[in-house]
Amino acid sequence: MFDLTGKVAIVTGGSRGIGRAVSETLARSGAHVVVNYAGNEAAARETVEKIHAAGGKADAKQFDVSDPAAVDAAISEVHKRLGRLDILVSNAGIAMDQLLLRVKPEEVERTFATNVSGAIWCAKSAMRIMMRQKTGRIIHLSSVVAESGNPGQAVYSASKAALIGLTKTLAREYASRGVTVNVVAPGFIETDMTSSLSDEAKKMILAQTPAGRVGRPEEIAAAVLYLASDEASYVTGQVLRVNGGMYV
Ligand code: NAD
Repeated sequence: MFDLTGKVAIVTGGSRGIGRAVSETLARSGAHVVVNYAGNEAAARETVEKIHAAGGKADAKQFDVSDPAAVDAAISEVHKRLGRLDILVSNAGIAMDQLLLRVKPEEVERTFATNVSGAIWCAKSAMRIMMRQKTGRIIHLSSVVAESGNPGQAVYSASKAALIGLTKTLAREYASRGVTVNVVAPGFIETDMTSSLSDEAKKMILAQTPAGRVGRPEEIAAAVLYLASDEASYVTGQVLRVNGGMYV
């Protein structure tokens, strides 16, 4: 089950956290994984080496998802070199948490340029290839806060909600071309992104999580793997919530 042998995947922001777990999981299932990174080449190489050590196929590719020309050049190069593109996981994301009254214009611009425009540029470049192939899987990493809201995360939650609208529209536009587009919406997952939260904030989040624990990046990767698989061919435009019951 969930055999990705012969498939090519790109994972944006794949060098650490959830992106690294997704890269390792897809590679373990047989895909050749292109691990995208923005700046941390060493972390991306480490991810690639871990995949190679486990007998998988991977390479690292630098591009900033908020730069449409760089995204298009990188995705075209991957397609040219590896001959196909089956799976795009738009995982790259940033959070600049702030109460609304303290939010600065540049924080809104940066967050949306990465989280929303980044996903749009990647989907646009990948879709051209996937449409011609008549098959493809696009998976966007949103967040539980897109649907539940969270004090201090107005900008971040707005950007993550935008991904749900994007996903639903792309699902409708490209279902007839064999391309599915879905969202995975994680709850509170132990990564660098969440490590800076105060103990008090973590305690509050846990109190709202029926599972009574934080999630692991591998638990998100398993949901991505399902949506990337042939078995999920009739699933499109959906939000798969992986959050320990935090939002149901
Ligand atoms: P992380 O900060 O550890 O990783 C994010 C990755 O995105 C990093 O490797 C970073 O370098 C990369 N990135 C940022 N800007 C980029 C750009 N412009 N171009 C290319 N790459 C860029 O975060 P994570 O916790 O692993 O989160 C991964 C995704 O899951 C994010 O989209 C995040 O919003 C989402 N998410 C995380 C949680 C959580 O609890 N950790 C919860 C819900 C959603």
